[in-house]
Amino acid sequence: MTALGNFINGQIAPSESSRVAPVFNPATGAEQFRVGLSSATETLTAVANAEAAFLTWSKVTPLNRARILFKFKELVESNADELATLISSEHGKVFSDAKGELTRGLEVVEFACGIPHLLKGEHSLNVGRDVDSYSLMMPMGVCAGISPFNFPAMVPMWMFPVAIACGNTFVMKPSEKNPSTSIRLAQLLTEAGLPDGVFNVVNGDKESVDVLLKDPRIQAVSFVGSTPIAEYIYATACKNGKRVQALGGAKNHMVVMPDADPAQVVSSLMGAAYGSAGERCMAISVAICIGDAVADKLIDNLEKEISKMRIGPGIGLDIEPHMGPLITRQHANKVLEYINQGVNEGAKLVVDGRNFVVTGSENGYFVGPTLFDDVKPGMRIHQEEIFGPVLSVVRVDTYDDALAIINEHEFGNGTAIFTRDGDTARQFAEQAQVGMIGINVPIPVPMAFHSFGGWKRSLFGPLHMHGPDGVRFYTRMKTVTARWPTGLRAGADFSMPTMK
Ligand code: NAD
Repeated sequence: MTALGNFINGQIAPSESSRVAPVFNPATGAEQFRVGLSSATETLTAVANAEAAFLTWSKVTPLNRARILFKFKELVESNADELATLISSEHGKVFSDAKGELTRGLEVVEFACGIPHLLKGEHSLNVGRDVDSYSLMMPMGVCAGISPFNFPAMVPMWMFPVAIACGNTFVMKPSEKNPSTSIRLAQLLTEAGLPDGVFNVVNGDKESVDVLLKDPRIQAVSFVGSTPIAEYIYATACKNGKRVQALGGAKNHMVVMPDADPAQVVSSLMGAAYGSAGERCMAISVAICIGDAVADKLIDNLEKEISKMRIGPGIGLDIEPHMGPLITRQHANKVLEYINQGVNEGAKLVVDGRNFVVTGSENGYFVGPTLFDDVKPGMRIHQEEIFGPVLSVVRVDTYDDALAIINEHEFGNGTAIFTRDGDTARQFAEQAQVGMIGINVPIPVPMAFHSFGGWKRSLFGPLHMHGPDGVRFYTRMKTVTARWPTGLRAGADFSMPTMK
């Protein structure tokens, strides 16, 4: 079986690596194909092509760069069903969810289509006699992106549309667990008219990542994945002089105030906790209830809703399930271990997702929706990111107790509060030490024209993804001070204006 290769200089480059990894269908457990884990030589070839392409791409006018992205957007839209099927077959998420991630990715493409407006820079007239000053937003050069398995289309699309719109060239290293989507997006970019070498895909693992982190031709590195790897990427790439944004893991809490609408809370939590089998960095994995009455009602409502959930393969059924499988057998086992751990630590297991079998998909990596009550801060199931369909309910007496739990947690990606009280909501938005806040919105993912990023150990580096920060990340500023003496007359004074 030939292994999936790379996409370099406008075409598929067959894998030349002696190392390969299996790519499974998570719904069946079957190995679908293998992906080559690129060698240093293959990775360097991608970088060399991106470097060569930068010379011409950086000179293409922003308007013409945007026109290619407009065409790319149309192509992704017209191929959305095929792409969503591909995503679901390698990731396991349900088809409508896969289409949803394409939509969120396309919103970043739409944002990047406005690049002529976003690259206008600044201009000051007459900073001195006959002297003007202006700032230019220059591209960085060759940029690299390293992405996780859970959004094989959206997370790369957080990165490369903005990078290439700004005049950079790009080397993408997708997750080896679902490597096909980036290759397909690269083909669509080429079909849209993107010159060869501007966008390249290198499939691989740590070996190729380490090459990208050290190669002096790479100017900027965008990473999204787990916190230990984000920390490693940040430290290594910074040490090698690169600009870095490294987004890490999460543990997102939702505060349920006594005045919140119970029906709204439960429907929001069902999607936020169990959607995409909990494999979302913005999933809500902890509900903090203020008072026992709120918690009792919520547990009761959640139990009823969970009993109605349909779980199964993400594609191929007449009625789409609510939730698909997890990404790999190892990851499903890790989630099951966390459930065992929660039981051993004394949390109350209300709905048990262990020993969960989907008829007809007995070998798929399914874990059933799981609900814990009486979870206490300090338990591992509260401290650590589970990244599965496991929701913990924590009971506290006051809003201040809830806020302290959130602010003391090591992660600070997203959080939400459900309340009808504007004063409480406003305080929460200001006081929570978290990067993205939802008020009666369970998954507060900023739109493409805002920036996405967490605080604390959910993000290393000062700049968030896409939106204004994305443009800042993929450009560097140059400031020109220019004197054009009026009429360039003989005897003009060329000395700098003196400060008074
Ligand atoms: P991961 O950290 O295992 O892998 C991410 C990428 O890093 C992959 O491309 C992988 O090949 C590469 N990688 C893995 N180990 C490496 C190593 N030792 N050296 C260099 N590169 C390495 O993450 P994952 O399991 O693919 O994704 C899930 C994680 O991503 C979760 O923790 C989730 O919270 C996080 N995530 C965060 C955000 C966010 O916006 N903060 C968004 C999506 C996912």
